[in-house]
Amino acid sequence: MNIVLFGYPNSGKGSLSQKLIDCSFVHISTGDLLRKEVKNNGKYAHMIKYCLDNGKFVDDSIVLDILKNQLSLISNNSNLLLDGIPRTLNQCEELEKLIKIDYAFELVCPKNIIIDRAKNRLVCDKCKRTTSKLIEKDFCSVCGGNLLARVDDNIDLLNKRIDDYEINSKPIRNYYVSKGIYHQVDASISVNITLQQVKRVLKYGNN
Ligand code: AMP
Repeated sequence: MNIVLFGYPNSGKGSLSQKLIDCSFVHISTGDLLRKEVKNNGKYAHMIKYCLDNGKFVDDSIVLDILKNQLSLISNNSNLLLDGIPRTLNQCEELEKLIKIDYAFELVCPKNIIIDRAKNRLVCDKCKRTTSKLIEKDFCSVCGGNLLARVDDNIDLLNKRIDDYEINSKPIRNYYVSKGIYHQVDASISVNITLQQVKRVLKYGNN
């Protein structure tokens, strides 16, 4: 079974994914894959870094190429959890050619909460876990890695990413509604509440 998560930046896709990994999903975050490509100085590193530093979408062909590579490393029987893709209607269509998507979850959260979360977000440079300055600082309490703020969480880039989401999410939503696999979950309160809603859908199916 394969699922996609989409929602505003900072709506909690990463935190929800960490919980779903425990439910035997293999997590694929396109944001993480792109940051890794930059870190490893891969063939697309330069172009990707420019996009990340400027809050722009990376070209579909690059994202899909990197995703295909990652998929080739994963067993065919895995339950996949895609986080950060699709971001455009074209990506929805291209993704469908690679794997069958069974459920699409949109994490819904008011904009003021998204902005507040961004001010406090920290990501571990080692295990990639997302946390908040309100909970811990400097070092990851799970693996001891360094906790760092994300470059694209500054307010100008965040506003741009929010605008991009608002423009692109409608066709994505319509695409999955037309396939009968779209579900909205509340991501404004806590990750456990979002998780419960996702689990309920997975238990009862697309009805
Ligand atoms: P994320 O970690 O999902 O918030 O992604 C961080 C950044 O990576 C985004 O702001 C985009 O610049 C880029 N990115 C991630 N996923 C995609 C995608 N599917 N298509 C285009 N750009 C992406």
